[in-house]
Amino acid sequence: MNSYVLRPTPPNPAAATAPQVQRRAGAVYLDPHLSMVRSVLPQTTQGCQECLQSGSPWLHLRLCLTCGHVGCCDSSPSRHARLHALGIGHPIVRSFEPGEDWRWCYVDEIYL
Ligand SMILES: [Zn+2]
Ligand SMILES: [Zn+2]
Ligand SMILES: [Zn+2]
Repeated sequence: MNSYVLRPTPPNPAAATAPQVQRRAGAVYLDPHLSMVRSVLPQTTQGCQECLQSGSPWLHLRLCLTCGHVGCCDSSPSRHARLHALGIGHPIVRSFEPGEDWRWCYVDEIYL
């Protein structure tokens, strides 16, 4: 009596990537942190504020859209943008790189 059937589960690439809520056609995921976005002026244009003080290198820059803090990205050694976002509670940043205008929420970890 062979009561079980070997049925391999096919890989589902859609489930392995981003949450489904972002993928519904026509519906935009409304991040609750968007209410914290202000029209800010960058506090510096020279680079990551903390890295400038400590003399550390950085790779890319992120602009806090709540207070204008400029910090370095997750590919940088110190990740000051993430520290600022999660430490102070300003989760939404915009890329501070020339030609890039995407926004990112450090809490939900999604592009906005
Ligand atoms: Zn969020
Ligand atoms: Zn930094
Ligand atoms: Zn901030």
